[in-house]
Amino acid sequence: MRNQKTAGFSTRGVHGGRGFSGTTGAVMPPVYLTSTFESGNPDGFDYTRSGNPNFRLLQESVAALEGARHATCFASGVSAITAVVSTLRSGDLVLAEENLYGCTYRLFERVFAKFGLRTQYLDLSQTANWEAIPRLRPALIWLESPTNPLLKILDIEGISRAGAAAGAPVLVDNTFASPYLQRPLELGATLSLSSTTKYINGHSDCLGGVVATNDAEWQEKMIFAQKALGLQPSPFDAWLTTRGQRTLALRMERHCSNALELACWLEKQPGVRLVRHPFLRSHPQYELAKRQMRGGSGLIVIELDCSAEAALVFCRRLRLFTLAESLGGVESLVCHPATMTHASVPAEVRRKVGIGDGLLRLSVGVEDVEDLRSDLEEALQAVLQRSES
Ligand SMILES: *Cc1c(COP(=O)(O)O)cnc(C)c1O
Repeated sequence: MRNQKTAGFSTRGVHGGRGFSGTTGAVMPPVYLTSTFESGNPDGFDYTRSGNPNFRLLQESVAALEGARHATCFASGVSAITAVVSTLRSGDLVLAEENLYGCTYRLFERVFAKFGLRTQYLDLSQTANWEAIPRLRPALIWLESPTNPLLKILDIEGISRAGAAAGAPVLVDNTFASPYLQRPLELGATLSLSSTTKYINGHSDCLGGVVATNDAEWQEKMIFAQKALGLQPSPFDAWLTTRGQRTLALRMERHCSNALELACWLEKQPGVRLVRHPFLRSHPQYELAKRQMRGGSGLIVIELDCSAEAALVFCRRLRLFTLAESLGGVESLVCHPATMTHASVPAEVRRKVGIGDGLLRLSVGVEDVEDLRSDLEEALQAVLQRSES
């Protein structure tokens, strides 16, 4: 058999994170529910805040999926973001893409700004804006691709090259793509961060975050943040995530095919003003998405020709798509950004960045696509009839 490094993605997923069988022959690892370890043990564990066999297994398996030398696991995606930002100093500048996950923005502006962190937001899909990088000399460039919630695609390779030329490391929040579809480190990024809560775990039963890197210095800083800031996950959550990632390749294949089929169908439906999916030809960065990603992932953004109230009627009529925040699980979810994830953003700002009252984000699960389509069809008809009456 080929070794861990050269094996295919699915093989790495299934066989990663299976050590520590000891003398029992257990095919799958146990959960190490222990806060502390006897001093002098050969594996070098001391206290679970600074390491646990379940963290080590998860870190090895995610590193293998990301094609990275190292990975560090955290209690949530937000913990992983905190770990990275905690390495910066007062006065440092983070140059961030303007379309950013809301909790990342909140951490920058409401927590780290108090400690002197500066931020500048630019539309990084415009290559002309990359020219600001050498002038601003950011300590870190922060981007997501695809972005939340509008699924904008950013050129990771191009931005990483521009960052490297100015000595600025690039972090990619890879949550929406997952390492199956996109591996930022191979495209030149320094750090690839994921909320494993979403696709990597994939079963909506625990939170987690991970930062992968090839850079030994960054890895040291991440391990330090894990223990010094108390950002470690529970061993059980690390175990769940290690189990979840074994089927990442299979799940992503189905998420991608279901989402693309539904997106194509939705584009033809009356009452649907806009459909966004990275692998639709109508997507503004379709060519880039095709080049950078192995599939379009499982998210679709649609804009219904209706009020916020009618959009919520649509959501409540759906039986297979649950109205809930989050994404990336085996089950389908629907989210109404104007009243949920982006409710705290003023209406005119929302509209300016393209989050209208009729905008909905679908996280397409791995159910049978025919069932998902008829669910959407019935809910669409309910909204259309409502607007006619
Ligand atoms: C959910 C999410 C996060 C935060 O992750 P949690 O696990 O919820 O803390 C960060 N970035 C993106 C893009 C996300 O979707």
